[in-house]
Amino acid sequence: MSATNNILTDTFGREHTYLRISLTERCNLRCTYCMPAEGIELSPKSHLMNFEEIYTIAKTFVDHGVTKIRLTGGEPLVRKDAPVILKKLASLPVELAITTNAVSVDRFIDTFKECGIKNINVSLDSLVSAKFKEVTRRDYFQRVYDNIMMLIEEGFNVKLNAVLMKGFNDNEIIDFINLTKTHRINIRFIEFMPFDGNKWDMDKTVSYKEIIKYVYKSFPQEKVLRIADAPNDTSKNYKIDGYQGSFAIISSVTNPFCDSCNRLRLTANGRMKNCLFSASESDLLTPLREGKNIEPIIQKAVQAKLKMRGGMDTLEKLKKPELHGKNRSMITIGG
Ligand code: SF4
Repeated sequence: MSATNNILTDTFGREHTYLRISLTERCNLRCTYCMPAEGIELSPKSHLMNFEEIYTIAKTFVDHGVTKIRLTGGEPLVRKDAPVILKKLASLPVELAITTNAVSVDRFIDTFKECGIKNINVSLDSLVSAKFKEVTRRDYFQRVYDNIMMLIEEGFNVKLNAVLMKGFNDNEIIDFINLTKTHRINIRFIEFMPFDGNKWDMDKTVSYKEIIKYVYKSFPQEKVLRIADAPNDTSKNYKIDGYQGSFAIISSVTNPFCDSCNRLRLTANGRMKNCLFSASESDLLTPLREGKNIEPIIQKAVQAKLKMRGGMDTLEKLKKPELHGKNRSMITIGG
């Protein structure tokens, strides 16, 4: 299907081939930068997509050019019918991937293999058990760490997502990179981003430049190799010469990558977000349940997509609580 009449191509010519689907607003962790301390008001079950609706909406996107689907949450694996959803989506001609906190991932290895899932992103913000407990408000560090190692042994491509927060885990950057010495893992340092209820502050954000400075303080420059980024990649990729794994930086705050954005999102209550930072959403679930064609709604939402960060195209704008505060909390977007 040519770009011009593809409903998933926006006014900047960006073709959207990657759909991130949040399966649930629930999670078995309570990460401080994701879930407001007081928790969130969960949508009533009847407002959430059931597995057939997830499949039907996903298939509509695939029919129009989506080639990759990532399942997120909350924590996608806490959803009771997660195996059913995985198997149904695995029947679509797409690359299926998942982002999980790995607390219960050990119970899904066979299902992942059956569904052809190879790429698994795991959230882990500290290698220190006490700090893990502090940021997640749960005491599951060893279980998560052991599950990550098991996923690598089982041959999955594991990316480890660490949200860096100044004064909390920026002093672990080198420890994380040293994990790549003997493990075939990709460590991704994520700049702390503003979402509803996460008490974001630019002063807590560890910038791309600051992370690189940490790296060059610990490794000779010639040992730090800049490796090729994949098309549409959100991360800037590096490798320490001779190490098995690699590391990367996702700099949505200080060095955004919106020019090559190919991502759309679907929330657990069936709302389409044309950008992670956009506060505007399009309800696909209600019209679907009314038997209406959802393609025109999808097309309208894609045509309405702004060039950068939902319109917060400068750092000054991103810093404005009256702008970034309109968006949902991360737990109900799924990253
Ligand atoms: S901020 Fe929005 S436009 Fe930019 S890369 Fe992320 S989703 Fe795409």
